[in-house]
Amino acid sequence: MKRKRNLADLPDEAIAGRRVLVRVDFNVPVEGGRVSDDTRIRATLPTLRYLKQREAMIILVSHLGRPKGHRDASMSLEPVARALATLLGSDVAFVDDVAGEAAAEAVAVRQPGSVLLLQNVRFEPGEEKNDSSLGERLADFADVYVNDAFGTAHRAHASTAALPAAMRANGRPAVAGFLIEKELEFLGGALDDPRRPFIAVLGGAKISGKIDVIEALLPRVDRLLVGGAMANTFFRALGLEIGESLVEQDRVEMAGQLLRRAESGLLLPVDCVVAQRAEPGQEQRTVAREAVPPGFRILDIGPASTAAFSDLIESAGTVLWNGPVGLFEIPDFAAGTRAIAEACARATRAGTVTVAGGGDTAAALEMAGHADDMTHVSTGGGASLEFLEGRELPGIAALDDA
Ligand code: ADP
Ligand code: MG
Repeated sequence: MKRKRNLADLPDEAIAGRRVLVRVDFNVPVEGGRVSDDTRIRATLPTLRYLKQREAMIILVSHLGRPKGHRDASMSLEPVARALATLLGSDVAFVDDVAGEAAAEAVAVRQPGSVLLLQNVRFEPGEEKNDSSLGERLADFADVYVNDAFGTAHRAHASTAALPAAMRANGRPAVAGFLIEKELEFLGGALDDPRRPFIAVLGGAKISGKIDVIEALLPRVDRLLVGGAMANTFFRALGLEIGESLVEQDRVEMAGQLLRRAESGLLLPVDCVVAQRAEPGQEQRTVAREAVPPGFRILDIGPASTAAFSDLIESAGTVLWNGPVGLFEIPDFAAGTRAIAEACARATRAGTVTVAGGGDTAAALEMAGHADDMTHVSTGGGASLEFLEGRELPGIAALDDA
């Protein structure tokens, strides 16, 4: 993939005292008027601090939730402005308008080093339609455009596509922020130039959503380890009886084709943890994959599989992990996923490059207490999957080439 121009490529004169509009991903949970998880806000701090130190006039654009082009007070970004002010240790102005007169007035009175957050850009009907006039109105607010919203980079919306296009048309820079730069470095680095052996661990509920990822990864990795309910469909392709386990019947044939193509490159669990219902406090059994009792369902990988997967992870040069290997939300079925997180943490300490993508995978790492023990945890769920599929992300394609 072509390298994109980033913030550090711009001379300080292009930033100092200039209006720098940053598309951020502040799509955070808000409960009772307060931000309850500020991970995504913190992820943008390197970019925002860099701009502040260089006395830029910072204008922030984000979406929150899915207001579908209508104003909805429950999805206001105002609580986010307060959370950001605390994290930055400085004032953050907020205007309850996206691209109209009130926003234009708030932009006009900016001072160097100040921060202004505009209202939820998805209150505008033009945002999700990638409306060029909304893009142009926002471009009028900016001397420089920075995209640091990796989580929405797979969407061609006005703030991620029409806006940078309008900047380019005006001869103004449209560059990547440090968060996007980091995502491209680690996700892209894993794909293009991995330290070997390169091991991918895939899990989650369905193969249907991840077939393109499997296809894209197979030729690149040395080993593809498959766990989670996704493995069940492969088990069916091997003719195994899997009781009441989740399975995608219409994907069994495709799973068989993938198995034949991958030969020994694709590794399935050899044992599993089963129970009669996907609920806490059930009688659990650990069984070989050939011995799932009728009426039971597979809810986690078993200890022999965990050990085999962990060994491969720990002897890898690069590990890419997407998808929990069991129903980790229920502690009874979280042991496999926890063990994978621990193996990744040990691998990182030993010098392996470990990269995780996917919303539930990030949550599983938090659960295991190892979110900080990976080389990189991607902030983009859908965006990281599309990237791993080898697709071009519109929000990144729209930026200047380096
Ligand atoms: P990510 O968001 O990281 O891409 P997915 O959305 O693909 O991950 O999958 C996560 C979900 O898969 C979790 O909710 C998890 O409980 C579920 N899952 C994994 N293994 C099983 C299983 N054996 N049975 C049922 N659900 C499972
Ligand atoms: Mg998910």
